[in-house]
Amino acid sequence: MKKILQDLSYQELEELTLSLGEKKFRAKQLYDGIMQGKTIDGISSLSKAFKERLKELYENEPIKIKETYYSSDGTEKYLFEFADGNLVEGVLMKYKYGYTQCVSTQVGCRMGCKFCASTLNGLIRNLSAGEILSQILLVNALHKSDVKEGAGKDGRAVTNIVLMGSGEPLDNYDEVIKFMRLLTAEGGVCISARNVSLSTCGIVPKMYRLADEGFPLNLTVSLHATDDVDRERVMPIAKAYKIPEILKACDYYFKKTGRRYYFEYTLIAGENCDEEHAKSLIKLLKGKPCHVNLIRLNEVKERDLKALDDKSAYRFLGVLERGGLSATLRRQIGADIGGACGQLRASYMEKKSD
Ligand code: SAH
Repeated sequence: MKKILQDLSYQELEELTLSLGEKKFRAKQLYDGIMQGKTIDGISSLSKAFKERLKELYENEPIKIKETYYSSDGTEKYLFEFADGNLVEGVLMKYKYGYTQCVSTQVGCRMGCKFCASTLNGLIRNLSAGEILSQILLVNALHKSDVKEGAGKDGRAVTNIVLMGSGEPLDNYDEVIKFMRLLTAEGGVCISARNVSLSTCGIVPKMYRLADEGFPLNLTVSLHATDDVDRERVMPIAKAYKIPEILKACDYYFKKTGRRYYFEYTLIAGENCDEEHAKSLIKLLKGKPCHVNLIRLNEVKERDLKALDDKSAYRFLGVLERGGLSATLRRQIGADIGGACGQLRASYMEKKSD
């Protein structure tokens, strides 16, 4: 597989430009073109000869949108295809304050969570920093015309990122950190770390490393249980890292970054959402600088886990709130366009193999 220009920082692009015998100002044109989501061929300010040289060394079009699905609530889902034919999915959620894009960090995943479709076939490969970034570049380009309506600052439609697509971000640590540098670079996509949420199943040593990087991003931990025995049933990673260790790492994160942290708690009927569980959750988290996001389970047909009904979900939320926790039940959006969490890719692959 050829290299991709999206992996390079501005400085590296400048070095590349000079090494190919081009003037320095061409690097700026190249960088701007990349940040606008263009292919090498599509950057009209560059000479044909320069573009040909670039294409010998780099992929012309490292990513494309294979399919787009539109929900009646405005949410969009994309199936992205990389140069090697691998697929990941992404979601764009439109809010009043801007657009939030859900981005993938790996093709597949090796964490094995029982409720998640991304992990059904294990990990295929890591995405590079540039491949993670290119998902956003493409969606910004797609929604260029929305910017006029005030969706984004700095001429970009996407204002917020959640690293909650396929993959475990902390299992692809170096590329994810590099992605954060590319994302927050001046003159680039202009999304600050404060507008990025990184969701992890709780790889404790990497959580400490992340705290030390100094990015003020929103750390989100997938908890989904209130004790380790229950957690191990749905999340194999719980065998390696226990809840008390995770909570300690979260507190370290808060100490280092001053940012409160988040927990995701997917409500699985008969598994983790009785009143007793709510009470245990309160005991576990009360007084901590955290917020709990309750998620409705998107039922994955390969698994027999069931979603909790809405009334019980609100009752669970009520118990948490009365117990003094800051909590919300995440609005279900885009449900009419194929669930979430790897289900789109899985169903596409299945269709293809029929
Ligand atoms: N690997 C990261 C990112 C995963 S996706 C992590 O584990 O946090 C983001 C969230 O969606 C996680 O909390 C994940 O557990 C949850 N999730 C995965 N599949 C789901 C499903 N079918 N229904 C509801 N939530 C799901």
